[in-house]
Amino acid sequence: MRTALSHSRIELLEDCPLKFKAIVLDKTPWKKGLPLYNGGFLHDLAEAYINYLTEIGIQSDIKGGLELFEEKWMARHEDKEFKAIPEAEHDQLLEAWTSFIEDRVFEPDNIVGSEMEIALDGKWEQVDWFDKERAFFRAKMDLVTLTNQDPPTVTDFKSSYNASSKDEAERNPQGRRYIMALLSTKGRLGSADEYRVIYDFMRSNVQREVILTRGHGLEERDRTFAISEKLEKRIKKNEWDATPGNGCHDCPLFESACPAKGLAAPERGIQDPETAKQMLAHLIMLNEQAKRIRGALEGYTATAGIVESGGQVFGPRPMQDYAWDILTLREWANRNGISIEDIVRPRSRTELEKLARKTADKKKAIDELLGIATIENGTEYRIRKATGE
Ligand code: SF4
Repeated sequence: MRTALSHSRIELLEDCPLKFKAIVLDKTPWKKGLPLYNGGFLHDLAEAYINYLTEIGIQSDIKGGLELFEEKWMARHEDKEFKAIPEAEHDQLLEAWTSFIEDRVFEPDNIVGSEMEIALDGKWEQVDWFDKERAFFRAKMDLVTLTNQDPPTVTDFKSSYNASSKDEAERNPQGRRYIMALLSTKGRLGSADEYRVIYDFMRSNVQREVILTRGHGLEERDRTFAISEKLEKRIKKNEWDATPGNGCHDCPLFESACPAKGLAAPERGIQDPETAKQMLAHLIMLNEQAKRIRGALEGYTATAGIVESGGQVFGPRPMQDYAWDILTLREWANRNGISIEDIVRPRSRTELEKLARKTADKKKAIDELLGIATIENGTEYRIRKATGE
């Protein structure tokens, strides 16, 4: 029996195979980050709201939607995930929810399903969602609608702050996976030539619409099968690489078993002094590495010319450094009515102290220099030698 997949499981596997193993196969307890809990809360609300509208046959009910929010908010304490959402999140979630219900109408007659669940077996036929033996791929769609004129439409509500671009929406495999699931259903929903997927960004009110064909859904079957094949090979060989990225921020393995902790730490953010130390060590190593790479590139490009990558270039380029004799420059400034103060370049404390050290009474000169200095407090971030202070 193959490991069952879904869009989010495939994303998890592609983000970091080791995290996938921990969560999906080993069932390691996983405390998701707040954004995921908040997103889940908004999704649950949207499902309840659409079901409520469908039941009573109306397109929108702002007052009812707001009441639903407060009801769900109070009841979140009883939910094993949503109870992690602190009181402080109330206002921003309410704001997102209010804009969601104010800006959308739903046509109850066109709704085929809200949070519609489709499970497929290895032959791409629909099976019971809870059939652990046969279910190979599961898709849960936020909203599926069907009219006589338009292609069957899947709307995916997104709770992220940033909307994806049109291009990103086109490339998102999620829509194709939904179509792949719909192809297993009966009637026009499963037999259309064209489908529409709408990525609906709840917070920014941006909707990205993508038209997909039956062919896209069929192609996705092959891709999903190839992913599954690779996964089964990994399982057989027990081969799980750790690939740091976005998923590190709430990974349950970070503290205990991540072999790439040094690289994972910057992705996760600093949460304790030990991690801060490790990250500094990593930064020093990267700086050293950067110096070596720079040296190697300088050597290579000195004879081979510039190299280009990702829209950036590296290599020798002609440059000129200008300098003037100060007396000649002063005459030029006088002739042109330019004040001498404007042309004297600002000097640093180090440079001035160097000059002061050359005077007869260097201690007095330095004390005087510091006495007349205007000191601006700022913060600098750089690697420096530890002095034990
Ligand atoms: S911390 Fe990051 S790299 Fe390490 S196992 Fe988790 S997700 Fe993978």
